[in-house]
Amino acid sequence: MTSSPTMAGIAVYPGQAGSIHRTTLPVPSPGPGEALVRVRRVGVCGTDQEIIHGQFGTPPPGTNELVLGHEVLGEVEALGPGADGVAVGDLVVTTVRRPGGCVPCVSGQTDMCADLAYTEYGIIGAHGFMVERFVMEPAHLIRVPAELERIGILTEPLSVVEKALQQAMLIQRRIPSWSPKTAIVLGAGPIGILGTLLLRSRGLNVVTVARRPGPHAISRLIEASGARYAATRAQSLAEIAAGLPPVDLIFEATGVADLAFDAMEALGNNGVLALLSLTGGDETKELPIARLNRSFVLGNKVMVGSVNSSREHFEMAVEDLGRFETLWPGLAERLVTRRIHGFDDPAQIAAEVEDGIKTVIEVG
Ligand SMILES: [Zn+2]
Repeated sequence: MTSSPTMAGIAVYPGQAGSIHRTTLPVPSPGPGEALVRVRRVGVCGTDQEIIHGQFGTPPPGTNELVLGHEVLGEVEALGPGADGVAVGDLVVTTVRRPGGCVPCVSGQTDMCADLAYTEYGIIGAHGFMVERFVMEPAHLIRVPAELERIGILTEPLSVVEKALQQAMLIQRRIPSWSPKTAIVLGAGPIGILGTLLLRSRGLNVVTVARRPGPHAISRLIEASGARYAATRAQSLAEIAAGLPPVDLIFEATGVADLAFDAMEALGNNGVLALLSLTGGDETKELPIARLNRSFVLGNKVMVGSVNSSREHFEMAVEDLGRFETLWPGLAERLVTRRIHGFDDPAQIAAEVEDGIKTVIEVG
């Protein structure tokens, strides 16, 4: 009897803060219709940090351990029998969510899951991609051109913003003459910055709002795209919006629930406010409910929540990463502010870094 080869990975015991550890798993081999992907790079995001801090995450059935990681760039290394749609050597990223049993899920729109009974790699019910290799059906793999190798790891977070913009545009078909010119992006984490680049690439005037006054690395990155950076420590959101033409579009990506309601007032008539922050906690606040309601009714305003993304949004994201490189060569890569090499120092992954935007683990 031969023992199967093993590989390293990074895992937690969900619900236990500080349980991040290096783990060992069997190297998977591709079954019929599956591709074997060798991991090159894994991104670390806010959701990973919440799981690391024990606030979130569900292990796969039959184990108390969850392998982390849902932002991955890899290379197809082998194909199982009958696997097609990708070729050995292709650079690929993968979608994250797999269907539960609800109608949208069964219809192929897992990002619109109605009963929240889905599975998500590295988050809910399935091991993630902080490993050396994984297997996946090619239908869930999206090819990344070789020239985007350095920034392909941003495809997953950008796909989340692509979905939000797509939702806004679909909603606004209600006003055929609508042509957005002014946008506010709340938050300057990876989602806020990628949202800024996406809206700038579409020619909108963008003000990106975070707490801390610039100049600093983040404000400089944002300004390099032609957006303006504004800080709520210097100026309230209401004051920022008052100095702008009517705001057609707002992306809320701060992770702070408070600002979502300030954003309702900052939004211009006929505008769309897209909420992207998964806020924890049970915070409450007093609100000017009559005024908010009135402004939404009189102004035909829309507020929409948007989460996750589907294959089409990943494909849009790959295309837009190429567009970003044409518009601002090298700029998107500045989102990667820290690189960790390999899986030998799990504590490094958990560490919070001042001024950091995105941490990436270089694998293999
Ligand atoms: Zn569902």
